[in-house]
Amino acid sequence: MPLVVQKYGGTSVGSVERIKAVADRVRRSAAGGDRIVVVVSAMAGETDRLFALAGQLGAHPNPRETDVLVSTGEQVSAALLAIRLQALGLPAVSLLASQLRLTTDSNHGRARIKSIDVRRVLQALEDGNIVVAAGYQGVDSLGNITTLGRGASDLSAVALAAALRAHRCEICTDVEGVFTADPNICPPARKLSRISYDEMLELAGLGAKVLQARSVELAKRFKVPVVVRSSFTDAPGTWVGEEDKAMEDVLVSGVTLDRNQSKITLTGVEDRPGLAAKIFGPIAKAGIVVDMIIQNASAEGRTDLTFTVSRGDLLRALELVKEVAAQIGAGGVRYEEQVAKVSVVGCGMRSHAGVAARMFEVLAREGINIEMIATSEIKISSVVNIKYGELAVRVLHDALVGNCGAGSYKEER
Ligand code: ADP
Ligand code: ASP
Ligand code: MG
Repeated sequence: MPLVVQKYGGTSVGSVERIKAVADRVRRSAAGGDRIVVVVSAMAGETDRLFALAGQLGAHPNPRETDVLVSTGEQVSAALLAIRLQALGLPAVSLLASQLRLTTDSNHGRARIKSIDVRRVLQALEDGNIVVAAGYQGVDSLGNITTLGRGASDLSAVALAAALRAHRCEICTDVEGVFTADPNICPPARKLSRISYDEMLELAGLGAKVLQARSVELAKRFKVPVVVRSSFTDAPGTWVGEEDKAMEDVLVSGVTLDRNQSKITLTGVEDRPGLAAKIFGPIAKAGIVVDMIIQNASAEGRTDLTFTVSRGDLLRALELVKEVAAQIGAGGVRYEEQVAKVSVVGCGMRSHAGVAARMFEVLAREGINIEMIATSEIKISSVVNIKYGELAVRVLHDALVGNCGAGSYKEER
């Protein structure tokens, strides 16, 4: 019997009615002959609520205690779904991370999975149960509860699918699959029937939260077939897998928006060797990831250096940069708390020029100023003012994906 991992996100288990609907859906899959491991997220809004509670009791809540707290959301949903499945007459058992033996390092809040010992899950399945696993959580070598990072129930699901050598991992969510842009901000976006791991990895890393980036990385590494589909309909969804010939012909498969970036500028930096290392060394040491960097042309031996970090890291990065600025005698430090990063992604860019020029043209036509640019083999990103973020996604989608077939912008000749 094929083993299938099905993950249900927050909205999909957001109320008693929704949990009933998920249980019905699981029952139908089980009736179809699949052995099923369900992974659940916390009910919609619950994880945020728990973080906020901790924040009300301490400005910098202890990460270990925060994990004890925020991991409870998934415990509640797992138990509720198991209760409902049993009420429908289906044998079911909920398992938490310690029972799943999903061990991680001790990096609270963003722990990395070290191993999963699947014997207990396999035994539970052997005994005829549907296993309902709590997503997002792990346990370190000392038995402390850890969490894997926001949105990481996707990662729990893919990791379990890999460890169990599941036939497929279904990510069941509140949209019908992976679209050419977030359908909630770009209504003409179309559902893709397939997407390569690499493209999905870029989309996820650039703001398409429909799949968590690390889950895609793991799916790629262990070749887990992943399908993103709706919890509410039986529509076929989007398959995420190895790249094939047809995918190379698609120039742009998606447009994304990341609203979670901040921009820092150091002005009047002396233009001499070694200064960039002085500035970015302490930031790297603090574990802060710097995304884009630009250095303006130097005037009279002085230059401006601008870079982006994720919003959650802004305050710490500012503290460090201000210290360095004082040491090196820079003119000053400016920042913008929220900027938008819009990106276009597609495998076809490897072999076709012209997408960047078209992107810049389209933004210019709308009067949207590009503040920073970054490219890789299969993506181009531009930082723009946050108030133009959604507009930028819509006009880029219209121009580069538009209505010309399955996510394809044909080069103008
Ligand atoms: P879940 O709670 O099920 O994990 P998420 O909210 O994390 O769901 O992810 C689903 C959301 O991702 C959708 O509601 C949609 O707004 C957003 N999204 C962003 N980019 C895309 C995209 N390219 N395709 C589909 N959904 C996207
Ligand atoms: N509940 C967690 C979060 O909100 C994990 C998840 O939903 O995937 O980030
Ligand atoms: Mg999610």
